[in-house]
Amino acid sequence: MTRTGQEKGHLEGWQWRQSKRALEKKERAKARHFKSSGEAETLAEVPDFVVSREKVGREYSIVAEATAGRYKVLEHGQFTEAILDPTLPFDLARNIYVGDHVTLSSHEGQPTVRHLVARKTVLSRLRRDATRWRDIHASNEQVIAANVESAVIVVSAKDPPFHPKFVDRYLVLTQFNGITPVIAYNKSDLVSAEDQALEYYRSMGVKVIPTSVVDGKGLAELKETMRGQQAVFVGHSGVGKSSLINAMVPQSELRTGTVSDKSGKGRHTTSASRLIAWDKDSYIVDTPGIRSLEVWNIEKTDLQLYFKDINELGRDCKYDDCVHDAEPYQDCKVKQGVKQGLLPRQRYDSYLKLLREL
Ligand code: GDP
Ligand code: ZN
Repeated sequence: MTRTGQEKGHLEGWQWRQSKRALEKKERAKARHFKSSGEAETLAEVPDFVVSREKVGREYSIVAEATAGRYKVLEHGQFTEAILDPTLPFDLARNIYVGDHVTLSSHEGQPTVRHLVARKTVLSRLRRDATRWRDIHASNEQVIAANVESAVIVVSAKDPPFHPKFVDRYLVLTQFNGITPVIAYNKSDLVSAEDQALEYYRSMGVKVIPTSVVDGKGLAELKETMRGQQAVFVGHSGVGKSSLINAMVPQSELRTGTVSDKSGKGRHTTSASRLIAWDKDSYIVDTPGIRSLEVWNIEKTDLQLYFKDINELGRDCKYDDCVHDAEPYQDCKVKQGVKQGLLPRQRYDSYLKLLREL
């Protein structure tokens, strides 16, 4: 499957160093991912609902908001309210997400969602709301944003403090899902020097853009990076996601908040995800209610594939299936690499933290 995001110049550095073996393992992991997701089966079970991208071409509408079977859909640059087509099983209503590409029909004058265009990418989480649905449907997957080509990982230099673990988590999630990561190091006006972790991310081929809504730094570059793409903004609350979006897309008018709680992570200001159109074929998915996503559906032995630095060192570990955790020190090149300063301890700690979540 080709993804436009991966064809862009700056992405190559991020992708090319993955070994063939890593890519094959990744494909297997993805195959499992979709297979174990009951949702994919639910969608597939309804004949004629999911249509191929080739068939639809550019003739699709984009879901901008989705709540309880009602959708705000962007059709030829205009917003339309739509419901799921009544000829379709109602269960599908919860399987349509912000960012989805759909084709519309109509029923008694009401626009309806008739087809779903096969998704290019999904950014998803485990459903936390335990309801009957969980038992009825095999799927515990909740899609946060569909069809995004890039993810802007927003962190702040200060207030709240910079958390490299958040970046590491999102680098795994984006890479696993075939989404290109871009790090926006916001509030750069509040510090005199960049955090040294940023240079390390650059060395891995990840684009890092220091930004500030106070002095405007990096905003044009960030905009150019996202142009022609469907991009999602992720980040803890209080880091400046809404401020950045407002600064780049003044007409979007997101509410901004202040960092007010003691955790320093900011307070919750908005909740539902939505898609903002800001230029031709250019969209931002804002996910204000999502503080952080868990890494899931990745095999423990596969996690290292999404830490390319660890993967490279780990090729020479004594055991093929070494997860660089409980294995003896003398047999593990990753543990030795940390000791020798070849791998930042912070990266290793992030890796172990995610490994234990799996
Ligand atoms: P969100 O929760 O990630 O959407 O964060 P907000 O956009 O609501 O911003 C949180 C706070 O940080 C607000 O008080 C903003 O004014 C402030 N802020 C956002 N961006 C910057 C920046 O680049 N520099 C500085 N100094 N403050 C910022
Ligand atoms: Zn090892």
